[in-house]
Amino acid sequence: MIRIGVVALQGDFREHLNMLALLGWQGIAVKEPGQLEGLDGLILPGGESTTQCLLLEASDMRVPIGAEIHAGLPVLGTCAGLIMLARAVVGGRSDQWSFEALDVAVMRNGFGRQVRSFEADLAVQGLDERMRAVFIRAPAITEVGEKVTTLASVGYRFADGSTRDVPAVVAEGSIVATSFHPEISKDPRLHELAFRR
Ligand code: GLN
Repeated sequence: MIRIGVVALQGDFREHLNMLALLGWQGIAVKEPGQLEGLDGLILPGGESTTQCLLLEASDMRVPIGAEIHAGLPVLGTCAGLIMLARAVVGGRSDQWSFEALDVAVMRNGFGRQVRSFEADLAVQGLDERMRAVFIRAPAITEVGEKVTTLASVGYRFADGSTRDVPAVVAEGSIVATSFHPEISKDPRLHELAFRR
């Protein structure tokens, strides 16, 4: 059976566990380093990346998770999880760090504040039909490195009136990341895509 860990320190890890259950996979709520043994993949959930930085260090998981990710463990990062994977984070606190495993730059809350949270139907490369994407204080991907594939983009009208296509699902090697929350629906296709590539 496929065993996927979900970092369960903060944020919406329960919703990810529900998605894994829908796929018939075993989901493991990872709260300490020993639980990283024998996983087929790992999910970094949405939530608050600044808090996750603190809790990952307090639980002694920053170093072992970083090592697993850089060694090629398949990873799905969503929203704050995308921020944790990014090479560069704009708009972070001075003590904000990330695993620097995915060659993108992200701007925290890059689509505006909570009131500007929104939904969109996205065409995702590799999925037959569009998927509903919920963006909640989402990070905006502002730069994408050469080795990164953009699997979906969202056309977004920014507060200054300009409209741009912004990458919303990106992949590099064993990593897939989304700026939205694929876990807060009944649709596990993105999870399947991330770990069946
Ligand atoms: N704005 C949050 C952060 O910076 C991410 C939001 C989310 O995960 N829904 O960490």
